[in-house]
Order: sequence, then C-alpha cells, then structure tokens
Amino acid sequence: MHLDPFELHRPRSVEETVGLAGRWAGQFDYLAGGTDLLPNYKMHLNLKPHVIALDAVPELAGHSLERVGAMERLSPLERDRAFGATYPAVADALREVATPLVRESGTVGGNLLVETRCFFFNQSYFWRASLGFCLKADGDRCHVVPQKERCYATFSGDLAPAFLVLRAEVELAGPEGRRKIPLSELYDAKGDGLRRLTTRPGELLVALHLPPEGRGLRGRYRKLRVRPSYDFPELGVAVAGAFDGDRVTSLALALGGVETYPRRFDELTEPLIGETLSDDRLSALAEAVTRAVRPVHNTFLLPDYRRRMVGVYVRRAISETKGAVAA
Ligand SMILES: Cc1cc2nc3c(=O)[nH]c(=O)nc-3n(C[C@H](O)[C@H](O)[C@H](O)COP(=O)(O)OP(=O)(O)OC[C@H]3O[C@@H](n4cnc5c(N)ncnc54)[C@H](O)[C@@H]3O)c2cc1C
Ligand code: SF4
Repeated sequence: MHLDPFELHRPRSVEETVGLAGRWAGQFDYLAGGTDLLPNYKMHLNLKPHVIALDAVPELAGHSLERVGAMERLSPLERDRAFGATYPAVADALREVATPLVRESGTVGGNLLVETRCFFFNQSYFWRASLGFCLKADGDRCHVVPQKERCYATFSGDLAPAFLVLRAEVELAGPEGRRKIPLSELYDAKGDGLRRLTTRPGELLVALHLPPEGRGLRGRYRKLRVRPSYDFPELGVAVAGAFDGDRVTSLALALGGVETYPRRFDELTEPLIGETLSDDRLSALAEAVTRAVRPVHNTFLLPDYRRRMVGVYVRRAISETKGAVAA
C-alpha cells in the first residue's frame, strides 16, 4: 500500500480555508489528524488531487466546557478531568476510541465526520477489484444488499452518540457563510452510507458547542467490539439523564455503529420523563429500540447478534447511568 501524490494546502484561517474549498470544489478532502483519511487513501478509496490540512488554523483548536474546536485532539480532551466529570458519557466514549496512539493524532472533528465503514469497502484496491468494486468506490453495485441504489456502510464513530445525548450543536463554515445546526441534523437520516451528511459543498466543521442543560447529567457510553484494544464499534450506546430517586427527570439515548448515521431516540425516551423507571419500562424501551434498528451484514459480527445486543446494551447503559453518582 502506498500514498499517491496530491497537492497539499495549509491555510492559516477559516476564511482562507473556505476560499480554497470554493476554488477546488469537488476535488479536495480536508485533513485533520489523518488517522481515517490517510489509511483510506492508501487503499485508493476515493482519492482527491487536493488535500487541505487544517492544523494551522488557530480557530479550530482548543476546548472548554462550552466549546470543542474541530481540531482538538482526542487525548487532551480525555485527560481533562473537569471535562470528563461534566460529560461522563463523552469521557467513556473518548477512552474507547481506537488506541492511545491514534487518540494523540485523531481529532474531534475527524471523529464526528469519520467515513462510514463496510467490510467490502475497507479493503485494498486489488481485493475490491477482484469483486468488481462497489457503489461507495469505483463500482455500481452493493454486495451487502444486492442492488444499485443504496449503500449501507455503517457510521462507526464513537463520539457522535455521546455528544448527541447532550444535544450538542455544530458550527459550520463554507463558501456560502457560517451557520450553526444541531449535531443530530449534521447526519442525514434520509441518506445512506454514501450521502451521509447534510453539509453543503466545501463546508468545514469549525467547532462543537455544548449547551448548559447537558452539564452535570449522569451518563454512560457502552461499546460492543470484537477486540477491546482498538476495534471500531459494532454498536455504541450513549445515555445522559437525571433522576430524582427512581423517577426520571431527563433522559436521552443515542446509538451508533448499527446504521448509516448515529441516531437519538427522543420519541422513545421522552414519554418516560416524570415516570418511575421500573424494570418493565426499561425492558419495553430496550425492546422498542431493538425493533427500530436494522443492522446489515457488513461488519464482523452478525446482524442478528448486534441487534440482540442493542437491547442488552441499552438496558445496561441506562441502569448504570441511573445507578451512577450525580456529578
Ligand atoms: C487502528 C484504528 C482504529 C480506529 N478505531 C476507532 C474506533 O474505535 N472508534 C472511532 O470512532 N474511530 C476509530 N478510528 C478512526 C479514527 O482514528 C478516529 O475516528 C479519529 O478521531 C478520526 O479523526 P482524524 O482527525 O484522524 O480524522 P481524519 O482522518 O483527518 O478525517 C476524517 C474525515 O473527516 C473529514 N474532516 C476532518 N476534519 C474535518 C473538519 N473540521 N471539517 C470537515 N471535514 C473534516 C476528513 O476530510 C475525512 O473525511 C480508528 C482508526 C484506526 C487507524
Ligand atoms: S454497503 Fe454496499 S455499497 Fe456500501 S460500502 Fe458496503 S458493499 Fe459498498
């Protein structure tokens, strides 16, 4: 495997970055830590002739309890105890991303925008060529669900579910200007593994904003993976909530690793607010979430098993959140 040549640009401001994005529209990728993009480039997956590196743009750096810059590396966030105590589900998720070495380079922005995955896609050029390629790169059909319209590649970032339950917002900048949208709207629920985001052409993720109501909630992120040392999630379940004894005063639940986008389940958790979280209610919620998701066979574990684990992990994550000491 080798890296083909590309032209590297290194802008110094958000304005310069989006200027370059307008100039090289459709012909570039943004480069953050490169821990996802560059391995994909080495496998000749959707190469672009221009790469815009984001490491010299000061506005994208740093974090506080209110704001996380897109270029903030995962390690400093993981080491910040005050941040972890304020957002326990995010602290759990940070510890579960890849390996300590990858977390030194990988960024929050890159994690939220990580490419969707599939075992017919994350393969070498020759492996893919032997199969006739697929819709997501170089081909015109899907091998997972045989047809030619839709890609089922799985969203496999760990941080998105944990930030979704905090109702985080993202700040975007593009050739058409700046805007802020809920993180949940960054991902296209009507899209697929190819058209997975709602961003406009050339848009850059500048920062993540954390609203005050997410601070100090109890929380948990539970991840299913084959090798605990570094694998991507086969399922990720994030919970944030507050309880008055057994009564639920706030509850949010989000899943990643099972569909083409990370997803919050407000329609199932909101009816529980004000209610006692009995075993029956918790089981009913876990069953309803299980019924709502449809994993396909494009990761290591079989879809039926992953689906059954949804119920188990939802129950565990919520029970542990309820049992946790409030921050
Ligand atoms: C061995 C290994 C194991 C891994 N395991 C996990 C895992 O368990 N969980 C997990 O979540 N990830 C895992 N990853 C993937 C990856 O390391 C992380 O998701 C990391 O956080 C990605 O961040 P990055 O800065 O390196 O992204 P990059 O590779 O630089 O970028 C990823 C994508 O986001 C785009 N992008 C990056 N920043 C911006 C921005 N500010 N605006 C617009 N677009 C942007 C890039 O163009 C690219 O498409 C693993 C990677 C490796 C190599
Ligand atoms: S789900 Fe289908 S189209 Fe998408 S990456 Fe896998 S094989 Fe390719």
